[in-house]
Order: sequence, then C-alpha cells, then structure tokens
Amino acid sequence: MIAYRDFATRLRLARELLARGPAPMPVHLADQFEAASAEVREAHARLGALLPLLHPERTWRQRVEPCASDDVRAYLLAVVLDCSAVCCHLKRGGPQPAFVCLPLRRADCVRCVRTLRRPPPDESDRCDVCGARGVLMFVPFGVRQGPAIIAGDACRSCASVLGIVQEESA
Ligand SMILES: [Zn+2]
Ligand SMILES: [Zn+2]
Repeated sequence: MIAYRDFATRLRLARELLARGPAPMPVHLADQFEAASAEVREAHARLGALLPLLHPERTWRQRVEPCASDDVRAYLLAVVLDCSAVCCHLKRGGPQPAFVCLPLRRADCVRCVRTLRRPPPDESDRCDVCGARGVLMFVPFGVRQGPAIIAGDACRSCASVLGIVQEESA
C-alpha cells in the first residue's frame, strides 16, 4: 500500500473515494463485515475501559458514531491511508476487526496488535491525523469506524473536526 505523506493529498483522495461510494460487496463478505463490526463494537468498549487504566495520566476521548458526518469519515479515511503497514492476516483474510495504531502507522488484526511496538521517538510532537509538527497539546482518541478501531493523538484542530474535543473538565 502506498502511503501518501501529505495530508491534503490524502484528504482529497479520501473525499473522492467517499463520493464514489462503496463497491458492492458480495453477500458472504457483507456477513463477515457485519460480524467484524460487532466484534469491534465489543473491543471498543473494552478499549474504553482499558486505556485509562494503562495511561491514567492521559485524558482519553472516545467517540462512537455509527453515522459519522462526511467530514469525519473523510478525515478517518485520510489517516488510514497514511498507514504503510498492514499485518499479513488483514491482508490475506476477508473483513475482520482491524486495530489502526496511528503513531505506528500500522493496521493489525486482534492477534498482531498485541505485539509491543514503539512509535518513532522523533515524532512525539506530530499530529497523527494531519501530520503537523510542534503540537504541544494532544487529544488522545480511539474512534470506532465499521470494523476498525483507530487510535492516536490528534492536534486540537483535527480533534475538533473529528468531534472529540470536549470542554475542559473544570
Ligand atoms: Zn495479524
Ligand atoms: Zn492535526
């Protein structure tokens, strides 16, 4: 898969793909897709409980949106297009739950996501969505979109497009 490093290009591509609409899916794949989505709904609920335990110092934002706006879907598709690595099981198999870890730019299946990997240390100031550098305040997020969970750190403006900015809890 070619990764387009320039966010504007990826966003434009994502909007074109969405405008074209999904390719018709054979029935047996549609069933698998549904099953994968259901599995991800469950995993997302678990992730929601897990992230604060793993990183209690961070304020995790969660968003569960079955019918996201065009903007949100284009943004999410644009960030997924940045993933340069996809585990062999996702590549090989039909639809199954995918975990997209944006700092690593990887999409993994349930099994492979357990492998511990560290994001490049020199990218700790980089927004995982638009790629802007020098970000000081991140909004960590985990979004469910169909059979995928997409997790990463967004700058404030990306977070607001994704609808994951919340009022500071005073
Ligand atoms: Zn895998
Ligand atoms: Zn951003």
